[in-house]
Amino acid sequence: MKLLKDKVLQEGIVLSDHVLKVDAFLNHQIDPALMLAVGEEFASRFAKDGVTKVLTIESSGIAPAVMTALQLKVPLLFARKQKSLTLRDDIFTEKVYSFTKRETSEITVSRKFLSPEDRVLVIDDFLANGEAAFGLARIVQQAGAHVCGIGIVIEKAFQPGSQKLQAAGYRVESLVRIASLTDRQIVFAEDAEDVRVQ
Ligand code: 5GP
Repeated sequence: MKLLKDKVLQEGIVLSDHVLKVDAFLNHQIDPALMLAVGEEFASRFAKDGVTKVLTIESSGIAPAVMTALQLKVPLLFARKQKSLTLRDDIFTEKVYSFTKRETSEITVSRKFLSPEDRVLVIDDFLANGEAAFGLARIVQQAGAHVCGIGIVIEKAFQPGSQKLQAAGYRVESLVRIASLTDRQIVFAEDAEDVRVQ
């Protein structure tokens, strides 16, 4: 997706060999026109999958996910990271280790919004080790629903998330894939000679 690639190059800040900051258009300030384009792209890639619900995790997944849900004409559901005040019987919970925060948190989704008939498209802003995506997929499985696929705005292809998810049988669609962030340089997978998973 050229629009997104250009934005990553122009406004992305490489914080370390492993972390890219995109708070100018995705993680803090949001570019709505770009998010609309992101939503259109995911919706077209999953147009034939009979998606009934889009699932993401708060907060940075919400913008791309809501635009995808808008295009697919289905509801957007986001997993909460805070402890819910509702009864535990009413919620699905999973533990997720956060790559950026280096801590495990519990994510929760109300049982009332996922049912076995649902066909769920999981969306997230970044893919690193796959923890968040696997956590969301496990919630879908707890509900007895089907995961149609996983849509990622920015995949860091030098980390193992995508390989692990695909090995587990999930379809992964990433809009941009980054091969390396070494020496403060953003190298996209399509421009790299090879992608080394660390
Ligand atoms: P994973 O769960 O795949 O290990 O990591 C993905 C999650 O961690 C995403 O939900 C995202 O919030 C966060 N994340 C991972 N890597 C980065 C990164 O390089 N930049 C930003 N901004 N967030 C990241």
